[in-house]
Amino acid sequence: MSSMPVPVLEPRVSLAIMGEMERFPVRRGFCIGRNYAAHAREMGFDPDREPPFFFLKMAEAIFPVEAGVETPLPYPPGTSDYHHEVELVVALGKGGRNIPEDKAMEHVFGYAVGLDMTRRDLQGEAKKLGRPWEIGKSADASGPVGPITRAGATGFSLKGRIALSIDGATKQDATLAAMIWSIPEQIAILSQFFELKAGDLIFTGTPEGVSAVTRGQVMLGAVEGLESIRLKVV
Ligand code: MN
Repeated sequence: MSSMPVPVLEPRVSLAIMGEMERFPVRRGFCIGRNYAAHAREMGFDPDREPPFFFLKMAEAIFPVEAGVETPLPYPPGTSDYHHEVELVVALGKGGRNIPEDKAMEHVFGYAVGLDMTRRDLQGEAKKLGRPWEIGKSADASGPVGPITRAGATGFSLKGRIALSIDGATKQDATLAAMIWSIPEQIAILSQFFELKAGDLIFTGTPEGVSAVTRGQVMLGAVEGLESIRLKVV
């Protein structure tokens, strides 16, 4: 008989909510691929004939970033081409199946700035070999997400600017209006394949300009009207 204790799991990852003491518990991370035409093109795809597709970020890979602090972000093993993808993250406060598009926004709790950090070399290899993407997309701490701003807050709109800079140099700069699939469409389509639940996050895709980071660099991810996130790669 082994004396190994039965594991006690760590509590769920949680995100700050702007102006509130309570935190938002994270259930799962869904990500949409190639949701901005110019990014689809830079990855070698034709955005016009591409239906939306989704992949997952493990809940444990979500990396909470608190308001107003530069946060060390660990560089993961197994890659020499770790890419930033700045994304609007939608936090669901209410779940459901087969959610109609015109009711989808009623399920949104709020929004945050997130990064879909990607081991591009391993993702590229997986694509080539027809293998799953987790090794490229779901590294530990590969989903930094800032504090959530509740839906309806002033200053945020789904047409605002989204941007990422490295050491002050702009790398990604677009508007949310350039998304191919809107937030209600993403929620409606996802809910046809999964029962969505409160606590689920949706990473809504990245605009063009993705590139590799190295240790020591500081990334600033921003969406107009939301709290920015500042991460130092370590
Ligand atoms: Mn992405």
